Amino acid sequence: MELYLMYLRKSRMDLDFDEVSVRETLNRHRKILEAFCRERKLNVVEVLEEVVSGESLSSRPEMLRLLELVNTGLYAGVICIDIERLSRGSSLESGYIMQVFQANNCKIVTPSKIYDLQNEADEQFTDMKFMFSRYELKTITKRLVRGRNQSASEGKFMGSIAPYGYRAYKLPGVKGNSLEIVPDEAKIVRMIYDMYGQQGIGYNTIAYQLNEMHIPSLNGSWGQTSITNILSNEVYLGKIRWRREPTKRIIRDGMVVKKRVLNNNYELYDGLHEPIITQEQWERVVSVRNSRNHSSVHSTKQLSNPFATILFCEKCGATLKRNVPGKSQKTTPWYRCPTRGCDCRAIKCHVMESSVISAMESWLHDYLIYIGSDVQSQNDHLETALGIIRSQLSDLQMQQDKICDLLEKGVYTVEMFSKRNASLVEEIRKAQTAESDLLKKCENQSQVESEAGKIIPATQHILDNYEHLSPAEKNNLWKIVLEKVSAYRTPDGELSVHIYLKLPMKK
Ligand SMILES: [Zn+2]
Repeated sequence: MELYLMYLRKSRMDLDFDEVSVRETLNRHRKILEAFCRERKLNVVEVLEEVVSGESLSSRPEMLRLLELVNTGLYAGVICIDIERLSRGSSLESGYIMQVFQANNCKIVTPSKIYDLQNEADEQFTDMKFMFSRYELKTITKRLVRGRNQSASEGKFMGSIAPYGYRAYKLPGVKGNSLEIVPDEAKIVRMIYDMYGQQGIGYNTIAYQLNEMHIPSLNGSWGQTSITNILSNEVYLGKIRWRREPTKRIIRDGMVVKKRVLNNNYELYDGLHEPIITQEQWERVVSVRNSRNHSSVHSTKQLSNPFATILFCEKCGATLKRNVPGKSQKTTPWYRCPTRGCDCRAIKCHVMESSVISAMESWLHDYLIYIGSDVQSQNDHLETALGIIRSQLSDLQMQQDKICDLLEKGVYTVEMFSKRNASLVEEIRKAQTAESDLLKKCENQSQVESEAGKIIPATQHILDNYEHLSPAEKNNLWKIVLEKVSAYRTPDGELSVHIYLKLPMKK
């Protein structure tokens, strides 16, 4: 018997025209496809549902799994609603997907057409359709970017995590978020500006003093970089900065990945939020900074291992050891598997670090999109639903008061009253169940966010400041974000690195 797989995925279109929830869309597609399979007697052994909306392969976990399954050669075809679902992205990736299907003689089955890639005519048709889907994506992305530009120029807060001193909140009645001051944190921000601008205390000393005073920071303890970030962020002046970290697309291992680059010509808009510091405080800090002419040169860094206790050999599981070359050796430090007989070859430390950084960069980028869109709209939906249920409840309670009144006044007989009351009680019970269910959902949601709230700033901090961090600082931060990293370099010199995040991409 021939075996088939089913692949379901929302498209950007579905998200953009938000009326139908993703789940509903997928369920609808699923029903259509199931009916189609029943009719054609296609034997579907597994259904893969992609809920994330990433456009690159690396951000589509179910697609990667699908390709893995197809690669086993066990399947006669993959069933999907239309061929565009299989690819949105670069032609390299579409090409790769096509190759996997072709090499395994796996057909793409849609209700309107069966694509057999062994058949040359179909192959061309597929190519064309893939191209079309990329074009469509480009126009949609453009529209999304336009929407975001608009929001920034209106002074809305565009980030996903509020800067220290502020809390993000949903603007009532309109789309988007703004910031509100967290009074205790705002005091610390002003203190930092005064310490630096007025008292002439350096970044490191400020960090040290704050830590001594046990003042909590966003990621555990204060460091030079968290102070620098606060002293250079115009958000405290009541501004919104935009396009500071645009993403650039680069191609790595045949896949398109996005890279965040700091841009010094970013745009500033007047924010909707209150400033924490005055223009005068800001200018003082700028002039002190210029006079000091800070360079990023650090005093003697202690050489240690940024991946201490979290880096393992993928082959044998041993902890990789960091080796430093002797004075006569003209080479840079490397990692080595200490297990006798393990054929994992030495890996240059800087190669190791840059692979982990790029993997984290693309993860963070996609995760921010995920958090920003799906979680935010999920929150909005929950809030709306809760509001509706609550007004329903108060309505029902009012009705109940009213019939009590009618009974007292003798308008209602006891019989009429009990009949009406029974149905009201039932409705109230239903609404209460719905309310407590929604509250539970809100709670889960905020749990997800608070997890993310710890890990995202830490990741952002590492990525933004990597070259300025000491190995010990790097190690502390990596340990907040990563469960572990495993690596293996084959005798042929091919390197594979796997990162295990503390916060996996939610499916
Ligand atoms: Zn090993």
